[in-house]
Amino acid sequence: MSPGPRHNPKKEKHRKNFDLKIGQKICKVRFVGNDEISSPASKKNDLIDTENPTIFVYRCQTKRNLVNTLLHEVLHVVRPELSEEAVTETADILERALNRLGYKID
Ligand SMILES: [Zn+2]
Repeated sequence: MSPGPRHNPKKEKHRKNFDLKIGQKICKVRFVGNDEISSPASKKNDLIDTENPTIFVYRCQTKRNLVNTLLHEVLHVVRPELSEEAVTETADILERALNRLGYKID
């Protein structure tokens, strides 16, 4: 059981949906509010295994959580064979690497 994303209304405004080409797939990235997600976003995303998947990211969370969620879900799409543990670890390390690079994610 993981805690839900923290609500952060200040971060809500500039989240533009976009599409990401991943191999032959066009992956839709959609930022959604609480009312648009019945189950936690990560759970929902973990079920995705379609030709053109959609990644749902809860819009009202800290930038760090948002970056981590996006990295995590993109990894699932790019490498569906990876275990949940491998994806989580890789996303966490990439997030730290971006942070060390100076990318502002706080
Ligand atoms: Zn996952």
